[in-house]
Amino acid sequence: MPEQLIARVEACYQQAEAFFKQRFARPEVSFKLRGQKAGVAHLTENKLRFNPQLYRENRDDFLKQTVAHEVAHLIAHQLFGLKIQPHGEEWQLIMRGVYELPPNRCHSYAVKRRQVSRFIYRCSCPQGEFPFSAQRHALVAKGRRYYCRRCKMTLSFSGEQRRE
Ligand SMILES: [Zn+2]
Ligand SMILES: [Zn+2]
Repeated sequence: MPEQLIARVEACYQQAEAFFKQRFARPEVSFKLRGQKAGVAHLTENKLRFNPQLYRENRDDFLKQTVAHEVAHLIAHQLFGLKIQPHGEEWQLIMRGVYELPPNRCHSYAVKRRQVSRFIYRCSCPQGEFPFSAQRHALVAKGRRYYCRRCKMTLSFSGEQRRE
């Protein structure tokens, strides 16, 4: 667990408590988030999930902006309930008033697409090229057969692999 991030979550709660003069229940924090999103706030479960890869690559901005953004969702929910818009005026008030941050909806961190291996299969057609996933390639090894719809030939592994 990145300690700095946990400390920042706590600091955001203390700022909100000082501002609104009330206590807020602390959320469960997890780092099981991959892909494009930097963070997710689960309102009814009072839970925050953060993306460890984007955190490592954008630490300063992530601590400042992303953590406050997601905490503000939970604070807004505890104050105003489920009827508000996710990035509506209540959430924006918390971002501006409590954290003195711009209420940006999205981060601008560079997201690398996860690379996947493709196994190139061929038939007898001149342009017959079939990029198989690793899962499908494994099924072929277990005896599964795939056919070209045009030439009806069994697709066979060409020995070529590619990352895309
Ligand atoms: Zn949001
Ligand atoms: Zn074919």
